[in-house]
Amino acid sequence: MAIATLLPATTAFIQRAPRMLIGAEWVEAADGQTMPLRNPATGEQLCVVPRATVDDVDRAVLAARQAFDDSPWSRTRPRERQNLLWKLADLMQRDAELLAQLECLNNGKSAAVAQVMDVQLAIDFLRYMAGWATKIEGSSVEVSVPLMPDQQFHSFIRREAVGVVGAIVAWNFPLLLASWKLGPALATGCTVVLKPADETPLTALKLAELVQEAGYPDGVFNVVTGTGITAGAALTHNPRVDKLTFTGSTAVGKEIGKIAMDSMTRVTLELGGKSPTIVMADADLGSAAAGAASAIFFNQGQVCCAGSRLYVQRKHFDKVVADIAGIANAMKLGSGLDASVDMGPLISARQQERVWRYIEMGRESGATIACGGEQFGPGYFVKPTVIVDVDQQHSLVQEEIFGPVLVAIPFDDEADALRMANDSPYGLGASIWSNDLAAVHRMIPRIKSGSVWVNCHSALDPALPFGGYKMSGVGREMGYAAIEHYTELKSVLIKL
Ligand code: NAD
Repeated sequence: MAIATLLPATTAFIQRAPRMLIGAEWVEAADGQTMPLRNPATGEQLCVVPRATVDDVDRAVLAARQAFDDSPWSRTRPRERQNLLWKLADLMQRDAELLAQLECLNNGKSAAVAQVMDVQLAIDFLRYMAGWATKIEGSSVEVSVPLMPDQQFHSFIRREAVGVVGAIVAWNFPLLLASWKLGPALATGCTVVLKPADETPLTALKLAELVQEAGYPDGVFNVVTGTGITAGAALTHNPRVDKLTFTGSTAVGKEIGKIAMDSMTRVTLELGGKSPTIVMADADLGSAAAGAASAIFFNQGQVCCAGSRLYVQRKHFDKVVADIAGIANAMKLGSGLDASVDMGPLISARQQERVWRYIEMGRESGATIACGGEQFGPGYFVKPTVIVDVDQQHSLVQEEIFGPVLVAIPFDDEADALRMANDSPYGLGASIWSNDLAAVHRMIPRIKSGSVWVNCHSALDPALPFGGYKMSGVGREMGYAAIEHYTELKSVLIKL
């Protein structure tokens, strides 16, 4: 068993009870309240962090407002913004192991995987966004202005930073989701108040230290730790915020969207999913089974675009399901500090209970548990589970479970597969496993989701926009699309 030894810096970070960053200050909550963080692998308390009050959030937004309106940051040139982002990415690279260990202790995920996935993807994304800082362009337009036929004009369109960004993120990829907000915000010249998930603020606080070390002016990046209901809501309602960017559940996203519409605050929402994995009869069945297993079991199934619905062409259904069950049964569960472990715990007792309720619901309705269907502790473990004999309209198929639970249904032909794949309130991702080029190209435009993968699943790249159709959200993260969401257009007309 290869158990990772914690770095002295990891232990020291946790033992010193991390504070929040507001402007230049590392602070407790105004009323001194704290909230406990737990290690999901053991259920034991890890440390406490401040439970931000409404006042704390207001002070953080004010710091971000002043930094955007009045500080040297507002005059920073693109090249400096590029260099600062590169510097930040370099510091994250230096501290990659520490960041991965914090993510492991706080979220339960594998430290080894977090280092090559979560942390490295965050670094790569910031470097990609650093490149955009020097490439943000407006345009000039030749205009007619029909009401003033005798006048000459010069006209151009500026692309300007949107302003103060309120960012709220979920707990499944704490550092990566924060970087998806921070990258375009800092590339375009915005300022940020980040509210990490209640359960997982540690890497956001470490990131704030690195932002300071990189040399960003005070107030450009602020982190408030606290609950959604107090700190998240305060950020959502604050009139000094110009743009809200949210990653989390569809239920909370809808509320935030409505509040944003009331004040016309710009908003992007990255929400839930129930993504289909479609295995066509001609697919390489071995790769498809391995790919489908990883599509649902990676990160304990707590992935917004997890392949949580499996559709297999009927003649190969039993074989593919049996292969996935075989992979699931062979998976070793345990602490994310053990590099030989394939699956860690879920994030919390609450999430374990939620996932368990769905498994029980399946059993009670007569579905067959092909593998897994067990939970154990200490820690919040649920075995990788595959469920068959369920109807397309069952809650197990229609609702996001957000755990290591796969529901599998056979289909007869391409039209049948497309009908069931699209029969969902969500539309985040989908994968097609096939070597029939014509069939694949026929299916891609007909799938209603923000991403389609062919012979792979959940493969992301900084240059590819990511986001949802339907109830999976509004707007896109990553790619140039993200730059558009963090900027406003201003039309300028000069009478000569
Ligand atoms: P959640 O909606 O409960 O919480 C997300 C964040 O919102 C947390 O920081 C929380 O504190 C905050 N929050 C909660 N209530 C709030 C309120 N009333 N006002 C303002 N903020 C509030 O979601 P979760 O359980 O943390 O995360 C899981 C969900 O996130 C899943 O649905 C998953 O699919 C989704 N997700 C989506 C993406 C994506 O890119 N589309 C990525 C990761 C996770």
